Formats: sequence, structure tokens, C-alpha cells
Amino acid sequence: MQRNIEPVLVVGGGPVGLALAGDLGWRGMACLLIEQSDGSIYQPRMDLVGIRTMEFCRRWGLVGAVEASPYPRDYAQDNIYLTSMTGHELGRERFPGIGLAPPPTESPQRRERCPQNMFDPILRAFAQAQPTVRLRYRTRLVSFTQSADHVTATVENADTGEREEILAHTIVGCDGARSLVRETLGLAMRGNPVLTYTTNVIFRCPHLLSLHDKGKAYRHIFIGPEGTWSTIVAINGRDEWRFSIIGGAEQREYSKPEIEAAIRRAVGRDFDFEILSVLPWVRRELVAERYRNGRGFIAGDAAHVMSPTGGFGMNTGIGDAVDLSWKLTATLQGWGGDALLDSYSTERQPIGVRNVTEAAGNLRRMLSVDPHPDLLDDTPQGAATRDKVGREISETMRREWFTLGVHLGYRYEGSPICLSDGCAAPADNPRMYVPTARPGHRAPHAFLADGRSTLDLFGRGFTLLGFGADVAEAAPLLEAAKERKVPIGFTAIAEPLVAALYERRFVLVRPDGHVAWRGDRMPAEPLGVIDVVRGAAGSQAMAAGANARQFD
Ligand SMILES: Cc1cc2nc3c(=O)[nH]c(=O)nc-3n(C[C@H](O)[C@H](O)[C@H](O)COP(=O)(O)OP(=O)(O)OC[C@H]3O[C@@H](n4cnc5c(N)ncnc54)[C@H](O)[C@@H]3O)c2cc1C
Repeated sequence: MQRNIEPVLVVGGGPVGLALAGDLGWRGMACLLIEQSDGSIYQPRMDLVGIRTMEFCRRWGLVGAVEASPYPRDYAQDNIYLTSMTGHELGRERFPGIGLAPPPTESPQRRERCPQNMFDPILRAFAQAQPTVRLRYRTRLVSFTQSADHVTATVENADTGEREEILAHTIVGCDGARSLVRETLGLAMRGNPVLTYTTNVIFRCPHLLSLHDKGKAYRHIFIGPEGTWSTIVAINGRDEWRFSIIGGAEQREYSKPEIEAAIRRAVGRDFDFEILSVLPWVRRELVAERYRNGRGFIAGDAAHVMSPTGGFGMNTGIGDAVDLSWKLTATLQGWGGDALLDSYSTERQPIGVRNVTEAAGNLRRMLSVDPHPDLLDDTPQGAATRDKVGREISETMRREWFTLGVHLGYRYEGSPICLSDGCAAPADNPRMYVPTARPGHRAPHAFLADGRSTLDLFGRGFTLLGFGADVAEAAPLLEAAKERKVPIGFTAIAEPLVAALYERRFVLVRPDGHVAWRGDRMPAEPLGVIDVVRGAAGSQAMAAGANARQFD
């Protein structure tokens, strides 16, 4: 009997697995996602949905759902450095409520505060709404093997213990930091396995704001005579708070009375609260050397594990999912070349290293406060120390709070499926994003006369943009794409400001919204260009040739 082979088996229904399944479905691809739990969140971890992730949500039609999530949109997002909530305020970076801040000019979207217990259900509903996607909860991957033409996975029903085999063309491990898929594929992690042993506690206290005079803020960073020791964040903007004892490289377990005392120390007074959950975890700085082995891939925390300082973890993982999704689609639909899937690791692994490194740097900056035995002293010397510590930490921490460059400025430098046009890259600055249509970068946003963003033009296939050029002039590339069965559309853009931003008369944008090629005229060998961008060029030399020829 002929057995059914799933095109893609996604392991793990966290935000990255759900985004991958949803995006595959959005592209019309069939996939099966398995998740060992029932999908409920024991303790929400991520809560910052970054601006690039929101651009993907825009594409998927999810912006309304994120904006309608219960996190209060007028809740001030200040970050405060303080000795305790009732103690000395050392410094503050003010941010308005998420709904009160307009999007920056570089994007049609803004970052959002939408904790995991609110965001995962949005992604889950998105994935479930795709007719080609199936989600199976309470189903655990036990093991898998791969052969030349498929993967055989053994999965177990978490309720009955019953086991079955699933065959799939590809398997994608979105199964988190302790990924079984990664381990089975033999993909080694490199970096620092322990930055800190941290303990996170969610506690409920509806009247916390009335217990101190600091007003509404998202994050409180507590600094004692020993340095930075804990944080409290407004996890739902109402009655629940996440307290973190940052800890150090030594493993340490806290008893309930110790945790209660630590919360009271941070607040600075005795008060009533209810502990909802306690989660000890290890903060790491790790990235897999490669994201692929044969028919197996890894994405999200399975591929990179980073300190939450900066809020990059899930957002980096969703970037993985979008990069991998169109490449799997192209390959399974037959228009992707042999090298296309390899380019997933080539493009995304360096972004993993970049973001993991930035996140660890943020942690180091947060912990950079030296011990000051006189910090709490009610003396002129104590006041001078507080002033100095406040100024220094405020300055140091700005790098973590302003990260447009991290979220929008990543680029696939040297990618085998992008054709360099020889122009120099803008600096990769975590704070500053410099919009550019240089190949490898995210195609920049600009509003068109009809109110759409340029980003709204990109998605399921390639998009060839023509500035002062019509479809007849674009015919060679469009014909070449058609010959290779590569889905492509052409859009003429008349707005001079957008033309200036994109800098060339023709810009070819990939399904994930990154620029693959650009030039002022059609390439001499349009088939060569199409073969490079679909991952079918035999070698880098061919890529270089196709590129060089267009300057003939
Ligand atoms: C305190 C904290 C705050 C954070 N804040 C942010 C933030 O603001 N923004 C941000 O971007 N990131 C943040 N992060 C990081 C973010 O939470 C993670 O990067 C993100 O959850 C990773 O998503 P994932 O889908 O890759 O993995 P996970 O969320 O870990 O999901 C993996 C899933 O795979 C399932 N699974 C595992 N093994 C199997 C198996 N064998 N079979 C079937 N299913 C399996 C698990 O049950 C789980 O549901 C934070 C992290 C922490 C700790």
C-alpha cells in the first residue's frame, strides 16, 4: 500500500512552529505540525513582538488581532532603574503606551507588546485557518530517521502512549532549546552554555501600582549595593507581574520564603501577592553551527538560544520561519533549485550569531553596575553615588531600548542566492536602520500614492519592481522566470521618492521581502539571474558571472 508522505513535518507548536506552519499554509503548502503539549502556556516568556514580526503579521492579516489583544495599549512602557519600587529612582527611559506611539517612518508597523499567552493563540488561529495545515496537539516526536527520499518519524500520543509512524519529505525542528530534532541531526551548538541561572516568578497583585510612587512602567531594573540583581515587568499590564532574580553562573535554587522575601525587597515593603508560577531557567548564548542536515532543518530556539535582554529570541525565530518557508515551498513545488535549501542556513545562521551576541551584550550592560556599598545611604555621598550610577546605567542601557537596526537592518551578506551590485553596505548598527534596496537587505518600506506600503507588494512569489519602466521593458526577466516556473509579478512604481529609495530602475524582491537583484537595465542573461535567485546556479562563479555581465 502506498503510504502518505507529508510534505513538511513541523515539530513544536511554539510561536516559531506556528508561524512556519501558518506561512507554509498561506503559500498553499500542506504541512503537519505536532506539539507535545495542549498548547497552553505555563508561563509566558516573550512579550515584545518586534517590528519585523509585525510586518509579517501585516502580510498574514494578523495586525488587528495583535492590536486587539488584552494588553492595555495606553500602558506606559517606561524602563526604570531603581533601588526598589518605594525607594530611589536612579533613572528612567520613557516610552508611551504601545498604542500611543506612531510607527517609525521606516515601517508601516510598530513593535507591539503582546505576551506569549496572547500571541501564540493568534498564530495558532492563523495556522488553523489555512486549509492545507493540520495541527496535532498532545503528540510528541519520539525519534526519526532519514533516507534518500523521506523522513520516518515515530510520534507518541501524550494521552494514550500509542505510537505511530509519520513519513515526511522534510522535518523542521521548532522544538525549542532542548531540540530533539537538532540533536538527532547532529547539529552542534557553539557559544556559551551558561550566562546565568535565573529564576522567573509570575505573581498576581492587582493593587501593586498603589503601593509605590513610580507610576506605570513596563520594566523595573533593581539595583542594590551589590549591583543589578532583579527585574519586575508588567507582564499583562493589569494584575500580573514577572519577577526575575537574574542570578549568576552558579546554580541556585530558591525556596518559596526566599522568593517572597526577594519580591518584597524589590517592592520595598510588605504587601500581599499570590505566586502563580516559578520557573528556574538557564540563560544561554548558543547558536547551531548549521541549521540543516539533509532533510532536517531547525528554526527558532532549536537553532539559537539567547538572553531575553532585547526581546530578540522569538523575533529571530520568526525570521527563520519566513526564510525557510518560501524555500521549502519553492523546492516542493519544483521551481527551487538544489542550492536553495542550503541557503537557509547560509543566510540565517549569521543572523542567529548576530542577534545572540547582541542579546548577551545587553545582559552584560545590564549587569555592568559595580558594587556600591553606599548606594542606599541617606548621605550626600550616597546621593552622589545614586546620581552617578543612574547616569551611567541610563546611558549604557539605551542600546537595548532602541533596536530598530537589529530588527530591520539584518542582511544576507554574501548570500549565494542574491546578486551583489557592488555597492557598499551601510553599517550594521543595532540602533540605526538605514533603509536600502541593496541586494540581501529587506526591501525598504515607503507609502505609495494609494496608501499601500511597498511591503504590501511582496509575498507569495517574486516581485519585480519597475521605476520609470513598464512591463514590456521588464519582459526578459519575467519571461525567464516563467520559463523556470518561478512565480513572479511586475509592479510599476511612479512615485519619485520611492524610486530614489530603491536607487535602480529594476529591483527584484524575493517572496520573503528581501532584495535578490537590482539594476538599471535588464540583465544580459536573465535566465542566469533567475537561476541564481532560485538557488539553481551551479556555483558562485556563475552567480558572479551573471552579476558581472549585467554591467557589460
Ligand atoms: C523571560 C523571557 C522573556 C522573553 N522575551 C522575549 C521577547 O520579548 N521577544 C522575543 O522575541 N523573545 C523573547 N524570549 C524568547 C522567546 O520566548 C523564545 O525565543 C521563543 O519562545 C522561541 O520559540 P520557539 O517556537 O522556537 O520555541 P518554544 O517556544 O520553546 O516552543 C517549542 C515547542 O516545541 C514543543 N516540543 C519540544 N519537543 C517536542 C517534541 N519532541 N515533540 C513535540 N513537541 C515538542 C514544546 O512543547 C514547545 O511548545 C523570551 C524568553 C524568556 C525566557
